[in-house]
Amino acid sequence: MQGEVSDLLNAVGLRFAVGRFLFYGSSALPLEQYLRLFARLNRAPGSIWTEATLKKAPHKPILLLAVIDLVSRGVFDSPVLSVTDDLVEANELFNGYWRRVAPLGHTSSIAFPFSRLHNEPFWALITTTGEPVEVGHLNITNVTQLRQHAVAGQLDNELFQYMQSADSREALRCTLLAAHFSPEAQAALSEQIAINDEAYIYSQSLYEKAHEPLVKELVEELQYKPVVRDQGFRRVVVSAYDHRCALCGLRIITPEGHTAVDAAHIVPWSKSHNDDVRNGMALCKLCHWAFDRGMVGVTREYNVITARQIGVDPNVPGVLQTMAGRGVLPPVDRELWPAQEFLGWHRKEFRLNT
Ligand SMILES: [Zn+2]
Repeated sequence: MQGEVSDLLNAVGLRFAVGRFLFYGSSALPLEQYLRLFARLNRAPGSIWTEATLKKAPHKPILLLAVIDLVSRGVFDSPVLSVTDDLVEANELFNGYWRRVAPLGHTSSIAFPFSRLHNEPFWALITTTGEPVEVGHLNITNVTQLRQHAVAGQLDNELFQYMQSADSREALRCTLLAAHFSPEAQAALSEQIAINDEAYIYSQSLYEKAHEPLVKELVEELQYKPVVRDQGFRRVVVSAYDHRCALCGLRIITPEGHTAVDAAHIVPWSKSHNDDVRNGMALCKLCHWAFDRGMVGVTREYNVITARQIGVDPNVPGVLQTMAGRGVLPPVDRELWPAQEFLGWHRKEFRLNT
């Protein structure tokens, strides 16, 4: 079996790294054991699955790729991944990988592999008291069902410790890719791994910059791909507003971890080249649409202002009209509030008189 794993790693250029991983740190079990288990994930075959996933269901390796990202980001800071917490980030990472390799139009819930990984020896479903859940013949296909039976997935502590190391994460990711995906799908997933890693670094840099004096144009951000910037900006802005629309207050997170808000730029990126958190607000779809078209804005006193045009016949402005004069809902951290420079540009651009 060691030969198989070595061959696997050799195929992804890691042959000479294996020795370093065998007895990493003080963990009792060798990393190689987990590489072997990752390479042998039990995946169901099916006619729906294409050559990209070697004609088998890709849920388990994709969930594990997302879990490795979460550990790398420190979001998942113990071996226990709760399903009662906010699943938005886990869901977005899962779906980012899923879209790369799943047949077009085929969607999945993170709950599906979350429960099925229970059949693998390094993952357990547990209750609030830490008791193992007997999954048996339960057919769990969505998060609501999952929450009825379990509160968390628990990784082996040794595996979790290996995931703290960048070298070990690389070996685990490479094993998942090499064992479960076609060469083309491996390339696509590798690109997604890099995007996720860079987006996280970018989001952290944006968070730190938001606590420094405002810089009008952050030219160094031009080095990042748009897809990296989008994910990084979204991560930090949506988190700062805790998924709440800054203008109308709407906050909805579906059981599957879909949030209702976008990360909106106050001065569009195309004009500002600025992803500073203070040039952003979390907005629901309606408020984002209305803000980008100057139908609503924010006063110097952080109240909502609406344009006269929204009430012009035959428009029916509905909830937008009721927002006029109400205070916006900014982040708890005062330093992350929208900057007056950007809000003022937006009012002037759309002639929103205060
Ligand atoms: Zn809204």
